[in-house]
Amino acid sequence: MKFVDEVSITVSSGRGGPGCVGFLRASGHPRGGPDGGDGGRGGHVVIRVNPQLNTLLDFRYKKKFSAQDGLSGEQKLMTGRDGEDLILQVPPGTIVRDHQHNVLFDLSEAGESLFLKGGRGGKGNHFFRSSTNQAPEYAQPGEDGQSMDIVLELKLIADVGVIGYPNAGKSTLISRISAARPKIADYPFTTLSPNLGVVRVDQDRTMVVADIPGLVPGAHKGVGLGTQFLRHIERTNYFVHLIDASGLSGRDAVQDYKDINHELAEYDKRKLDLEGFRPLSEREQIVVCNKIDTMSEDQKRDLAARFAREKVDVRFISAVSGQGIQELVFELGRKVFENKN
Ligand code: GDP
Ligand code: MG
Repeated sequence: MKFVDEVSITVSSGRGGPGCVGFLRASGHPRGGPDGGDGGRGGHVVIRVNPQLNTLLDFRYKKKFSAQDGLSGEQKLMTGRDGEDLILQVPPGTIVRDHQHNVLFDLSEAGESLFLKGGRGGKGNHFFRSSTNQAPEYAQPGEDGQSMDIVLELKLIADVGVIGYPNAGKSTLISRISAARPKIADYPFTTLSPNLGVVRVDQDRTMVVADIPGLVPGAHKGVGLGTQFLRHIERTNYFVHLIDASGLSGRDAVQDYKDINHELAEYDKRKLDLEGFRPLSEREQIVVCNKIDTMSEDQKRDLAARFAREKVDVRFISAVSGQGIQELVFELGRKVFENKN
């Protein structure tokens, strides 16, 4: 199974600035010596692995990325300014491929790699003076930059898992808070399609929220989540435990909460022998009552009191109306990012 974030982009390094044709003009020197400076180098394309990033969302909308061109040389032997490098910031785990699918970089560690060199600046006419030609009237053009179509690929690991009964509103919640929905390929259980969203926390940071399918009473006795799926939630420290609080399911909200937790514990019993597996029941839960658009204030108060008796602090949202959603995203963002670095 792959949870992959994949984007195709075009990157270009800068063209070198042209050399300058110039002659010193000073009193007594009607045509002074050649003083045209060299052009500046075009900007390089550099790939930087930034451990603060965990998705490729920044590349989803913009498709062409270019370093700056070098500036032209000037008189008085002034070299043109180099073009600014283009720094592509990617999360750790990003694979860079060319369009033939060859792997160019497999970036797991923080650091920088020079990817495409900027074009060299052209030489100014000063460079070309010689004993036979003391006043060359030509300079070199700048060298072209390089351009390449590439594919960035990242295996996504969820930061937050959403658990809860079928129809609790997991898919609705994820689509509501997502800034992007990466494609999910090769899922082994065709009847259980996972749902994954990239959620923007603030301008610089995003987190990955995944619905955890197939976690229903009795699931542990059957195929369950599968070890493939567990790999994608190995780092998931937080679960949003979503509960249908509307009463429309015909079940009781507090009982639903207990049922799902019972299922997690049963699941853990069977998976504890899996190497490196962290029990699902030990991960922190943010308990969220959904569908409050269908509830009265009294009903909410009563439900909060019943959860309080179980020592469970609950939030109230409506994935449909949007009420309480922004607060939930902030709370999740705070939790996810206080533990990164
Ligand atoms: P999932 O099985 O947990 O992924 O649940 P879905 O997101 O598919 O939602 C199940 C049903 O509940 C759908 O008909 C949704 O429209 C409905 N639903 C989800 N959130 C809300 C909500 O906040 N209020 C109401 N009234 N209905 C909701
Ligand atoms: Mg769903």
